[in-house]
Amino acid sequence: MERCTTRAEFCQVMKALAETLADDLWRTVVEDRCVEQADAWMRTRGGAFLRSALGVALTARAEHVGVRGSCACGGAVAFRERRPVRVHTVLPGRDVEATVLYGQCGACQRGTWPVLHEWGVDAEGFTPALHALATLASVVEPYEAASTELLGRMAGVSVSTEKMQALVRDEGARATAQLTAAPADPEPAPPVSAGPLTVGIDGGMIFVDGRWQEVKLGCVYDLADRVVTATGRGMLTRRSVVAVRGTPEALAAVVWPQAAALGAADRRVIVLGDGAPWIWHLAAELFPNRVEILDWYHADEHISAVARGLYGEGTEKAAAWRTTQLDRLATDRIDDVIDGLRFLAPRQRSTTKRRLVDDLARYLTTNRERMRYHTFRAAGYAIGSGAVESAVSHVVQQRMKRVGMRWRAAGADAMLALRSIYRTTGAWDRFWSTRQAA
Ligand SMILES: [Zn+2]
Repeated sequence: MERCTTRAEFCQVMKALAETLADDLWRTVVEDRCVEQADAWMRTRGGAFLRSALGVALTARAEHVGVRGSCACGGAVAFRERRPVRVHTVLPGRDVEATVLYGQCGACQRGTWPVLHEWGVDAEGFTPALHALATLASVVEPYEAASTELLGRMAGVSVSTEKMQALVRDEGARATAQLTAAPADPEPAPPVSAGPLTVGIDGGMIFVDGRWQEVKLGCVYDLADRVVTATGRGMLTRRSVVAVRGTPEALAAVVWPQAAALGAADRRVIVLGDGAPWIWHLAAELFPNRVEILDWYHADEHISAVARGLYGEGTEKAAAWRTTQLDRLATDRIDDVIDGLRFLAPRQRSTTKRRLVDDLARYLTTNRERMRYHTFRAAGYAIGSGAVESAVSHVVQQRMKRVGMRWRAAGADAMLALRSIYRTTGAWDRFWSTRQAA
């Protein structure tokens, strides 16, 4: 690799590279009229050009940086030799060859590559930009497809699935640390007139270490950030999503920083849940000033299941019964629903049906105060959270519950943390910018 120490030398080498490229371009695209595949050809050839150019620059930078300073052990670092290295980048074709200065500590003999250290290149030669790209591909698609299709075909860089899994584990640990950290810049306390903050909590299942395990998920948003699209669909312009495998405490550890960043300490918080007791315990612990609401869609699910059980799947009677109960719920007449069930239960001949009715009556009685839907609506609260449902789907289902997919605990936890950041508005870019600052 050519070593340039002055700008004039460097430009000379670059001109030579550019001339070779121009020559190739002339012969291949102009003379051979390889028009159909010209762009594909250019991506490969241009990638080679860019990699050569960067290699020359990296070599020059290595001379510029030199070898100096002291080792972590306190010993002095001295120049040993120049060595050829291969750096893995995001440029098409991936590899950049350069010659860089190598130094060694006089005391502990530890070797060092100052310019590679400066560039943030890891022990296997991967640049931070390739880290970020390969991690993104892994978070979006299963490892195999991410490696061959997204990185290989689309970006023109090859990264093994093993490397991608290692990256996800490393970056996942960093993501977990970031999710549990106290918010760096909490929003200023909102005006008293500000509406409540909404926190939706739900669970989903993933197959980890040979068994189904629950993923607990929280979605934090401000109804003020809700807009209605042209097609009439509600959409949040900003939301935080967090998902963990483990205890309610583990979820609390990641939900709180996101809620606190939106001023949860000084605001009323609407907690939407599906009726699982741990959700209300967690809500009580985190948010003293809260309103608990049983998610409307979950209430509907429970009622629909009983309607089907009593009157048969898809029957008119089942539909009518369900509509009646939902109408009552919508108008704060939950007691009428419960009374109706108490009337029905002893009149069931089958024990299965009777249990179905009893269970629903108990469920509604337990959650009675959380189902004042008319009151909640009048106060401007969200009563059903499509946001949470879609968060479960986006964070968990789409990447972690594909057919035949198995996870190990460490890989699953890392992926959940990264998917949380990926699905939180603006968080992905922040996550990578804080890495550079570190
Ligand atoms: Zn040393």
